[in-house]
Amino acid sequence: MRTPKRRESFPLDRLEGSLMARRKKIYEGKAKILYEGPEPGTIVQYFKDDATAFNAEKKDVIDGKGVLNNRLSEFFMTGLAQIGVPTHFIRRLNMREQLVRSCEIVPLEVIVRNYAAGSMSKRLGVDEGTQLPRPIVEYCYKDDALGDPLVSEEHIAAFGWASQQDMDDILSLALRVNDFMSGVMYSVGIRLVDFKIEIGRVYEGDYQRLVVADEISPDSCRLWDIETGQKLDKDVFRRDLGSLTDAYSEVARRLGVLPKSNVSKPTLIN
Ligand code: UDP
Repeated sequence: MRTPKRRESFPLDRLEGSLMARRKKIYEGKAKILYEGPEPGTIVQYFKDDATAFNAEKKDVIDGKGVLNNRLSEFFMTGLAQIGVPTHFIRRLNMREQLVRSCEIVPLEVIVRNYAAGSMSKRLGVDEGTQLPRPIVEYCYKDDALGDPLVSEEHIAAFGWASQQDMDDILSLALRVNDFMSGVMYSVGIRLVDFKIEIGRVYEGDYQRLVVADEISPDSCRLWDIETGQKLDKDVFRRDLGSLTDAYSEVARRLGVLPKSNVSKPTLIN
């Protein structure tokens, strides 16, 4: 009788690491790395486990965060595409990577708020959790050295960061994302307090299109349980409120996108 060959379990992280080493890195940010994609006009977006807050003054590595954000961002971007909101997302490649369209990022953080929280509460003295009479859209200039300052449409126009037509399109994209995300979250008992998106320009010949880019995940949203008010977003890390992975896993579980384990369980052979 032949002895069955022992199946070596290959360390997936090492495989991912060696594949990554052969790719050209384009950019490394706080939570993601961008690599050249397999075809022109594509990029591979790799989600790291690194968590940062307060302009990277607070840092940690949170096991599994990248995997969860990769899945969650795929879920939201796919849903947006299904209702006709253009995004940069093409497809998820593996546990930590997704293929996206390469685009030129508009240097603005587009923030939409439904309830007062965070910097807005501080700035205006409005209690956290106060429902706003209507969604408020704010713009911050993307510059880490300056701490991403809040800017007005006047600044955006004067410094040429986006045209008036772009701003009309960005506002409409932001509000559509807000309606979609609020509805999806509400359906699983979560309040979408606020979120940040980034917008990319995709060129098709002479024609330019704006798409939702970067990521949409609990790193860039405030998510509170409707019943208990429990925070299920990056504030858990910012304010030391417990396990970030547990919070993100809870969001993923409620949405039905909890990743399957990549470690195969031992099976009993009779
Ligand atoms: N946000 C983000 N990246 C940033 C700044 C803010 O994703 O660099 C998100 C943040 O998670 C929240 C929303 O944008 O969901 C509004 O953030 P706020 O202006 O209140 O800033 P914070 O209090 O997080 O400093």
